[in-house]
Amino acid sequence: MIETSLNIKKAETSKLHLLDFDNIPFGKVFTDHMYVADYKDGEWGDFRIEPFAKFSIHPANIAWHYGQSIFEGMKATKSIDGTPMLFRPEMHSKRINRSAERLCMPAFPKDAFMEGIYELVKLEQNWIPKQEGSALYLRPFMIAMDEFIGVQVSKTYKFVIFCCPVGPYYSKSLRLKAETKYIRAAEGGTGYAKAAGNYAGSLYPTELAKSEGYDQVLWLDAKEFKYAQEVGTMNIFFAIGDKVITPSIKEGTILEGITRSSLIAILKEKGHTVEERPIEIGEIMAAGKEGSLKEVFGAGTAAVVANVKTIGYNGDEVNLNPDNYKISPMLKDTINGIRSTRLEDTHGWTVKVV
Ligand SMILES: *Cc1c(COP(=O)(O)O)cnc(C)c1O
Repeated sequence: MIETSLNIKKAETSKLHLLDFDNIPFGKVFTDHMYVADYKDGEWGDFRIEPFAKFSIHPANIAWHYGQSIFEGMKATKSIDGTPMLFRPEMHSKRINRSAERLCMPAFPKDAFMEGIYELVKLEQNWIPKQEGSALYLRPFMIAMDEFIGVQVSKTYKFVIFCCPVGPYYSKSLRLKAETKYIRAAEGGTGYAKAAGNYAGSLYPTELAKSEGYDQVLWLDAKEFKYAQEVGTMNIFFAIGDKVITPSIKEGTILEGITRSSLIAILKEKGHTVEERPIEIGEIMAAGKEGSLKEVFGAGTAAVVANVKTIGYNGDEVNLNPDNYKISPMLKDTINGIRSTRLEDTHGWTVKVV
């Protein structure tokens, strides 16, 4: 790994003995350390790993008021022989910098990102659950730190990575509501960035969908409410006939998932025909009615894949039986198998932390 001037200050005591590895609540347990760097005078500096602690933040902090705030989500796992591993970390580094550019935030140097992730995971490796499907979830994020109440580009920032151990994610099959009034992202907007505000805007329509008996919103495009986009924090795949279709990312309204890209590669390798293209909700509903819609599943780092059993659209519903799905369980097994070294990593996706 590269050498920056990374300072490591270790915690005096560890909370690890309090963790019950067989019963880990998602996103509520935090490890002993975090990685932090600060941006001022036009450059990143003070790269450090320090004991996990709260920050003190000024009431006029620009991120709080105007939302200059972006994040990533990735996982560290353990190989069968106990070596910590990362999954496609460079893609997360690239993506946080695409998000940063869109929100006028400074790029975080790739070498520092890789070193931060690497050294933090090395230090916290005893927190990585061993069971396949479980992981140490890593949350890199960047926020503006200027103390000023005018709307302007902040001149100071904080970049942080913290970690949460997570158990195997058994997602129940989802009921999705194709949303015909509210939107998540429009062309020209921030949909392709992992920007905090995108999620704030999605909460209200999601709560409405829940009150109607659905689990999540299937977002449609903002122009015509015609094309499927994605779900919550997942990309979406449809198996129709002998093809697997996922919405294309070139319109800039969809988050380019690293799981999405990995699943497309695995599908092609296994001989499936994959189409990345705009897909109309009408086509999906019609395929559901006539029986050619075989599988629908979401794809993201947390769940890997989450099966969909229902799509509701304008008062109409298509229902599927995920117990019969074949493609989605194969994909989940392949990704989890690569992440645990049970399967060979023929793509060079994993990075060992030694
Ligand atoms: C993070 C995210 C995804 C999935 O991305 P992965 O890299 O696969 O975790 C998809 N859609 C949205 C909106 C997201 O925030």
